[in-house]
Amino acid sequence: MLKRTSIFVLFLFALFAFLPQTTLAVSPVTGHKIVIDPGHGGTDLGSTACPTLTEADANLQIANKLKTLLETDRAIVGMTRTDDSYKSNNDRYTFANNFGGEALVSVHLNGSIDHSKNGTLGLYGKLNKDKAFAERIHARLATELGVSDLGVTNFASGVLLKVNMPATIQETVFISNTTECTLLSNSTGTRQQEIAQSLYNGLIDWFAQPTPTPKPGKNK
Ligand SMILES: [Zn+2]
Repeated sequence: MLKRTSIFVLFLFALFAFLPQTTLAVSPVTGHKIVIDPGHGGTDLGSTACPTLTEADANLQIANKLKTLLETDRAIVGMTRTDDSYKSNNDRYTFANNFGGEALVSVHLNGSIDHSKNGTLGLYGKLNKDKAFAERIHARLATELGVSDLGVTNFASGVLLKVNMPATIQETVFISNTTECTLLSNSTGTRQQEIAQSLYNGLIDWFAQPTPTPKPGKNK
């Protein structure tokens, strides 16, 4: 009888030692409000340089995968567009500000008439609000997607300028590139997943940073 009880107690110990780690795992994005902005939509197709997939559709596919990754970590995700509807810049920044987002990632694919051109480009609106954030997200895409690094540059986008949270447009890869067009159109969603994973990794890096605390006596 005693033996059976000890085994049961041991089992309970093992169960409780294991459970908290699996059910209460926290990630740097857990509990944070993050806005994903899938570029274009509706009558605005974005780049149509890939004949089998519009930029608008591909952006939404990537955004949905990014949403899943973030929600698995129990981040609170807001999407400026969830279907193939047209959204103005005003719709997008109004949604993001009302949602109370702490960061916004606008998902885009670049386009060129040169179908051999590829690379990843990060855009920021306001220097102080957005640049460090854009660089942090872009760093992952530049090292993980296997395309050339086109850097981070300033772009006066209405969405970036009007949202009151750190924000970036990521021109993730060129959908006009023959290889990317084939990969993004092949219905496995593998390339979309890779891009979403890099955006997610960048967000993890950003939220893992210690929050800057105001230095007393230095804010004159
Ligand atoms: Zn675009």
